[in-house]
Amino acid sequence: MRCFTGGDFAQNGYVAWCEATNQCVIVDPGAAALDMVADVKTGAGEVTAVLLTHAHLDHVEGLGVIRDYTDAPTYLHPADRVMFDNLPAQVAMLGLSGSGPQLDPPEREFEDGETFHFGESVFRVIHTPGHSPGHVILHAEDDALALVGDLVFAGSVGRTDLPGGDYQALFRSIRQHVLTMPGETRLFTGHGPATTVEHERTTNPFLVPSYGGELA
Ligand SMILES: [Zn+2]
Ligand SMILES: [Zn+2]
Repeated sequence: MRCFTGGDFAQNGYVAWCEATNQCVIVDPGAAALDMVADVKTGAGEVTAVLLTHAHLDHVEGLGVIRDYTDAPTYLHPADRVMFDNLPAQVAMLGLSGSGPQLDPPEREFEDGETFHFGESVFRVIHTPGHSPGHVILHAEDDALALVGDLVFAGSVGRTDLPGGDYQALFRSIRQHVLTMPGETRLFTGHGPATTVEHERTTNPFLVPSYGGELA
């Protein structure tokens, strides 16, 4: 797993590798997409898919750079497709200049519970609405890690004030799908440093009951 951070929102994109076969998947190509492509080239990787945890601008703006390099199909949950198709509106909402990237639609739709195999590694797709309607997380149970996008962060949780955000759904998603993972599971987040399930369960002020949080 390699992390690439870039852009005004310090968004984290990832290249997840199967070290045994050099097959890899690209997750959330944002402003650092060129660095992601360089990493794949350096490692002689074979990109098998591009996976989008959700369709916010900062997580997809580098998709064109990736597509210039590989024909691997892009996956997005259908409930985030409307946002993907309205990137100019997102640009305006975030107060940025320009009209945003012109992107062809994702070729494939995520299904809740489906699995992605690349080399000897497996990601399970879990639909986790709240931050956006079609947000998903990617759980590699055998590797004790998950890519959680903007669902939960080290010491914080995803914002729910953007269109399609839902505060109750966000906490339900975290309780049902993140806090139920084994405590040692490493969480790679869409912004900021990586953390673990146990660390967030015990210290995240939004999740610890003694801090007034909502732990199931
Ligand atoms: Zn987001
Ligand atoms: Zn984000």
